[in-house]
Amino acid sequence: MHFLDDSLLPENQQKLVIQVAPYGPQWIPGDSDDIPVTMDEQIQKAVDCYNAGATVLHVHVREADGKGSKRLSMFNEMLARLREAVPKMILQVGGSISFAPEDEGQAAKWLSDDTRHMLADLNPKPDQVTVAVNSSQMNIMDLMMDGDFTGTSFENPQLQAAYEDMVIPSNPSWHREHIRRLVAAGIQPHFMLGHVHQLESVERLIRRGHYNGPLILNYVAIGGSLAGLNPVDMLEFVRRVPDGAVLTLETLNRHVYPMMAMAIALGMHVRCGIEDTLNGPHRERMTSVQQVVHMVQQARLLNRDIANGDDAREIYQIGQFYKDTDDTLARLGYTPNRHPGERGIPVRGFPNV
Ligand SMILES: [Zn+2]
Repeated sequence: MHFLDDSLLPENQQKLVIQVAPYGPQWIPGDSDDIPVTMDEQIQKAVDCYNAGATVLHVHVREADGKGSKRLSMFNEMLARLREAVPKMILQVGGSISFAPEDEGQAAKWLSDDTRHMLADLNPKPDQVTVAVNSSQMNIMDLMMDGDFTGTSFENPQLQAAYEDMVIPSNPSWHREHIRRLVAAGIQPHFMLGHVHQLESVERLIRRGHYNGPLILNYVAIGGSLAGLNPVDMLEFVRRVPDGAVLTLETLNRHVYPMMAMAIALGMHVRCGIEDTLNGPHRERMTSVQQVVHMVQQARLLNRDIANGDDAREIYQIGQFYKDTDDTLARLGYTPNRHPGERGIPVRGFPNV
């Protein structure tokens, strides 16, 4: 992204879009007082986060017994109720789920489909599904330090070992097909990228015609083979993101607070919620709603306006897709593809000879 002389002035920055992740699938209900379990609690949590200022809801679904749901029908029920309870909120389903068939009919029909592709079949459809690009390690223990999980299930060494070895599966044939199905269903892929090389892969997908649409993405600085906390890496990522993209910063634990302060100052967007940290900046427990309030206060200190639901939908270009590869490259502010025989750096409107 380019920074003009006046880019750090808040009146020239997009209104701040606050993503909230209040469901925390890695936690069990006993880990915190702020883990919604029943359907009513999960819906109410979205309402409370929206009223506090969050306009994007990162959705995971919990069964009544407290375990993460793998039932498509339960996701559909939750999405339908969220649409009624928070109609303006952008519903972003976490894309790491593999659904399990619920009956023999589904089992037979789904056999040929990777169950992770079923996200494209959600009904009512969410606004977005998160998509990781390229398989990688997702060792969330990397950035867990003393105090980050005191008194939680993460004190169990076996659980720590399992989370250390966690992998994000997203090989090219899978994510190309997944993006194709999401777009066909009118769902916007929200790219979750851990470093510039994953961003380069997304650029190749766009240049080769596998995706024509808005580039809405998170810089996922959660360690464990994805970005760490060196701000220089973050700034290089920001520099490499094209001007027409919408970039949110994301990290884990108490790093959320300094990282989001930087995001707000730079004109980027923020993510918070108990999926990212159970604790506030002073190591005290902090609910998802309190974290959203913290982001709003931080933005106010810098005079950054906060997006309402309509603003957020406009900024995220929900429901919009672009015409073709050239149109996508132009709207994102990427250098055009090279025409056959063209030498030098391709410049839009000025073909090189
Ligand atoms: Zn998630």
